[in-house]
Amino acid sequence: MSSAHKIGALLFCPDCGTLLNLPDDGHSVVTCEQCNHEEPASSFDNIEVTTRSHPDAFPSPLRQKRKTQTKHHQEDHQGTLVAEKCPQCGHMQAFSKEMQLRSADEGSTIFYTCASCKHGWRINN
Ligand SMILES: [Zn+2]
Ligand SMILES: [Zn+2]
Repeated sequence: MSSAHKIGALLFCPDCGTLLNLPDDGHSVVTCEQCNHEEPASSFDNIEVTTRSHPDAFPSPLRQKRKTQTKHHQEDHQGTLVAEKCPQCGHMQAFSKEMQLRSADEGSTIFYTCASCKHGWRINN
């Protein structure tokens, strides 16, 4: 069996040149939609690293685990992701963290960090 052509993070059918889909979880072969050529899923193994910039295009148990860990990490260090408009770049999501810096009867201060440009600002309750 001839092996598929690789261009960057993409695999193309060696028989007809059609872009091959990424293998579904648990499937050992990828079938070409045009000519039914069967490409072993192992051909995709060593390109997984290069697809990191498009994580949603290659769902795998490993990557989903990594995603969960990243999210947990952000909640710990940057706060909770909320719908808040960044005054600097207009991005609609920011991390919020509430802090009781002033006396209790004056309320608390919420710190926001833009999820896009990392601009930080705060709002007094
Ligand atoms: Zn083909
Ligand atoms: Zn911003």
